[in-house]
Amino acid sequence: MIELNSISKKFLKSKKEIIALNNINFKFELGKFYAIMGNSGSGKSTLLNIVGLLDKPTSGILCINDTDTSMFNEKQNNMIRLNEIGYVFQECYLCENLNVFENIMLPLMINKKLSEKEKIKIVNDLLNMINLYNRINHFPKELSGGEKQRVAIARSLVNNPRIILADEPTGNLDKNNEEMIFSLFKKLANIGKCVIVVSHSEFIKKYADKILYLDNGIIRGD
Ligand code: ADP
Ligand code: MG
Repeated sequence: MIELNSISKKFLKSKKEIIALNNINFKFELGKFYAIMGNSGSGKSTLLNIVGLLDKPTSGILCINDTDTSMFNEKQNNMIRLNEIGYVFQECYLCENLNVFENIMLPLMINKKLSEKEKIKIVNDLLNMINLYNRINHFPKELSGGEKQRVAIARSLVNNPRIILADEPTGNLDKNNEEMIFSLFKKLANIGKCVIVVSHSEFIKKYADKILYLDNGIIRGD
């Protein structure tokens, strides 16, 4: 599904070279929940950004669906990002002036292929999945941190992407909410998605199918 071949990423800062990723080889598969752990500065976000086509490697090849992405132009990148990848961040980036239903609906507004009825069904199904149907009219400021993150996860899923990427999605949450989010990711892997989550939380080990440890830009395996 996602194949990293000798991926390296170097940053040049004040004439000094920083090796954020050092010759990474790995294959992510559909139907699996991967946890990426490691010290701060070990390259976790850099790896996720490259997999999510938000950044380019300095060298190496990233294949998605058996297709080499290195020659993609911005339009092709956008197509993959829109259709194949759902992003979840530590800050949920919900629109404060839209309610839960509208926030989840937002990415569908530009979708011309689906009817209004189909869009509403997608949002309702996602609300049921995240178990927040009873908060449908709430605005973000009227939600707990965990509820907000569940809305952000639902929103990342509206285009039915096969890849879910999350960078420290539970950084602001307590243990109970953390476990709820991880079990939701597990559920997504169980329905066939490729879920990749960067986290510092020990609780993720209970839910992830595979744990990757990054150490100075190198994968140490589990
Ligand atoms: P993590 O997410 O594991 O904390 P990052 O992937 O954000 O680590 O960063 C890995 C290394 O690359 C760090 O040493 C960081 O300082 C450096 N780095 C990240 N982004 C940049 C950038 N845009 N310019 C220069 N150095 C960067
Ligand atoms: Mg990071």
